[in-house]
Amino acid sequence: MRLSNYFLPILKENPNDASVASHRLMLRAGMIRQLTSGIYNWLPMGVNILQKISNIVRDGLNKAGCVEILMSCLQPDDLWVESGRFDAYGKELLTMKDRHDRNLLFSPTNEEVVTDIFRKNINSYKELPVTMYQMQWKFRDEIRPRFGVMRGREFLMKDAYSFDIDKESAIKSYDKMFETYFNIFKSLGLNTIAVRADSGQIGGDLSQEFHVIADTGESTIYYDIAYDEAIKNSSLDLATMRNIYAAADEMHDPDNCPVPAERLVAKRGIEVGQVFYLGDKYSKALNAYVTNQNGEKIYAQMGCYGIGISRLIGAIIEANHDEKGIIWPVEVAPFIVSLVNLKVGDGSCDDICEKIYLQLNNAKVDVLYDDTTNSVGSKLATADLIGSPWQIIVGPKSAANNMVELKFRRTGEKEIVSIESALSKVCA
Ligand code: ATP
Ligand code: MG
Repeated sequence: MRLSNYFLPILKENPNDASVASHRLMLRAGMIRQLTSGIYNWLPMGVNILQKISNIVRDGLNKAGCVEILMSCLQPDDLWVESGRFDAYGKELLTMKDRHDRNLLFSPTNEEVVTDIFRKNINSYKELPVTMYQMQWKFRDEIRPRFGVMRGREFLMKDAYSFDIDKESAIKSYDKMFETYFNIFKSLGLNTIAVRADSGQIGGDLSQEFHVIADTGESTIYYDIAYDEAIKNSSLDLATMRNIYAAADEMHDPDNCPVPAERLVAKRGIEVGQVFYLGDKYSKALNAYVTNQNGEKIYAQMGCYGIGISRLIGAIIEANHDEKGIIWPVEVAPFIVSLVNLKVGDGSCDDICEKIYLQLNNAKVDVLYDDTTNSVGSKLATADLIGSPWQIIVGPKSAANNMVELKFRRTGEKEIVSIESALSKVCA
């Protein structure tokens, strides 16, 4: 992508309506703009990363055998009356009337609709187990939307729902999704911790939340310091994650905590995902059953599993930034390379940049080529702000010797190298 063809409305100054780093940086880097409270428009770089994250999540779920569907955003209220949640859900539920005076609501979550799909289309135990998922915009009329996309009213969620014939197999589906989440967050370049959680509005009696540890997190979480140790030695594996003591605030009981006080850590976390075992709460209420080998009616045993795709972007930035801007993990970076031409119009600068740009495109390495006539200072600041893992900086002095400057954004390390050597490093 050439910056001269792109739409990247950078803000030079910190916006004063943003109190956390991720919100500030997403506005400054031209990824999002607020339309109204808790509702955002996504600009090209924001869309780019939404798609990257969605695809990584999608790959992980497909590999685990889940099937993608797409449910509507608007739902008739009668399914929610049937499940008993219409009144229970409270003011976060946005409702409206159509021209025939029928009640509709904007989906905050989809247990009712997916159970309706199940009961109308799946009849036999032979069709189980099945896990369906979607990536769809949700609306929750949050009382205090804040921190940009981290607590929006409209937000993108991946929601998955499993259906099994009995509790044992439902717990297997739950465990498999836990493992899938562990792998997905790892492939997003993120360390997460899974804490025991309350199942709240959704229901059921077994639930865990995945948190990214960050001072700006809205939740307090408690866990065994063994987790920090495992992260430090890069030895965090699935077994450790499953077995370690970790609990959300409302589930942590200091009097009955198995971890000695000196090994217990309390930190702030951003909830990026949650898994629930639901049992037959929704299948019973909505009469969703299959017949077993003996022709008996069995209510499906369900699980549901969410990942906040748009919130994840905020969480990734909270965990990966400095005073100059974002530092994308390679796994999710909108652009792997920022190619900066410091003197557009200079023969050797232009030639070298065009050559590198072509080769990166051929190698399918995402590159943003700053071919604008902005000042050197503003180009370098923009490259740091938008946070591509690598910068290739081409100025007249080194260009005359057929050399470029290669900068690694995370450490700030710079070296003057040949074009070939820069290309081989960023393509590795
Ligand atoms: P929270 O406790 O933060 O309000 P929740 O537990 O109500 O979230 P879930 O029903 O578990 O949310 O939804 C699944 C995921 O969707 C959450 O783990 C979170 O990552 C994301 N999410 C929930 N609410 C929001 C929101 N208002 N804005 C952005 N993402 C959200
Ligand atoms: Mg939750």
